[in-house]
Amino acid sequence: KHIKAVSQKKRLFRANEPLLSVFMWGINHTINELSHVNIPVMLLPDDFKAFSKTRVDNHLFNKENMPSHFKVKEYCPIVFRNLRERYGIEDSDYLKSLTKCEPVASDAQGRSTARFLMSHDHKFIIKTMVSEEVEQMHSILKAYHQYVVENHGQTLLPQYLGLYRFTVDGAETYMVITRNVFSQNLTIHKKYDLKGSTVDRSASEKERAKDLPTFKDNDFVNDGVIVHVGSETKAKLIEKITKDVEFLTSQHLMDYSLLVGIHDCEKAQEEAESRRQEENSNGIEEEDESPESDVSFDYKNTPPDSPVFSPDNQGYFKFDSLEFDCESDIYGMKCSENAARKEVYFVGIIDILTHYGARKRTAQAVKTVKHGAGAEISTVNPEQYSRRFLEFVSKALE
Ligand code: AMP
Ligand code: AMP
Repeated sequence: KHIKAVSQKKRLFRANEPLLSVFMWGINHTINELSHVNIPVMLLPDDFKAFSKTRVDNHLFNKENMPSHFKVKEYCPIVFRNLRERYGIEDSDYLKSLTKCEPVASDAQGRSTARFLMSHDHKFIIKTMVSEEVEQMHSILKAYHQYVVENHGQTLLPQYLGLYRFTVDGAETYMVITRNVFSQNLTIHKKYDLKGSTVDRSASEKERAKDLPTFKDNDFVNDGVIVHVGSETKAKLIEKITKDVEFLTSQHLMDYSLLVGIHDCEKAQEEAESRRQEENSNGIEEEDESPESDVSFDYKNTPPDSPVFSPDNQGYFKFDSLEFDCESDIYGMKCSENAARKEVYFVGIIDILTHYGARKRTAQAVKTVKHGAGAEISTVNPEQYSRRFLEFVSKALE
């Protein structure tokens, strides 16, 4: 479809770079278009091959805000709308999260070439993909959808919510949206990416220098971390993860990770306390934040409009009772009563799109599909990978 400037909605999508303006425009456009498409009783095989395409030539209209030529392609729109519904996400909320303000960049990066962003409200993760991953997504989508249906959306697999291609200045960028594993409100103090392997599984010096480094298996073991959720929760969690991993193995997928985020309640209280003291001593000069503070994100920077951290609703003190919003923080779990430290854990499976076949190709191919320079090449197959993974996860929980 070809859109003329006149028919375009007058909403502005101001972002700091053309790609993000187009991203916001594209989400708005595709969600609006979908709202005119009936919700079918059931999905058809063709829905898993479908796409929508829009080309925009703005010429002079709105030139300051948008590139004058761009294209938006959405893959399998009806399927992803169905997935959003099954994951309890209203299209109007999805739209608001992704277009009200531009998404913020993160330094939590795996592959060196992949970009990693987060919606301004921390609900969604936006990741760039290579075309092989888009292809891989298509090849598992039907089975993935079936799996989500059978399990009533109760899975720790990535919640895939939308898949797009944006073309700006002739350059194509693939982007996938998933739900954020971490909390919208609670600060994550430490995070681990666990695979159950020990080869090349320590965070690099460069990674450690970050505000919130992604630590790995060896760090997890050396730090003596245990996810203390109690035996009942552990059993439920292991059951869920085992099912998910069986699904991944059935699709010959491997190299996935268990992402673990830890919110340390005591630390959070100290941070809140020192922030309050700072505010008090600052007196009238509050709000003296640099303009970047709401643009650059790490899990430590809370946007100014964040509901929980606003002083007037006493949000700081919620940490005392380990309260978190289970409705929105669906991956969150409190530590068990007898845990040594008061913590809240966030646990999900990420990075599931590496196919055994693709991995076996040349080292170069593996590098482009997977983690770049650091990617180790081992000889394990998906079954072995899953066994090792589950073994490690089982030891990590208590
Ligand atoms: P394109 O949309 O042509 O840029 O495709 C990006 C990647 O996704 C390519 O590797 C395609 O082969 C793959 N792809 C796109 N659409 C489909 C589809 N309907 N079924 C399977 N693979 C697809
Ligand atoms: P990846 O590029 O998928 O390996 O991700 C790199 C890092 O981004 C991970 O180690 C996590 O720290 C973070 N990350 C990836 N996916 C998610 C997600 N769904 N929610 C929160 N953090 C994520």
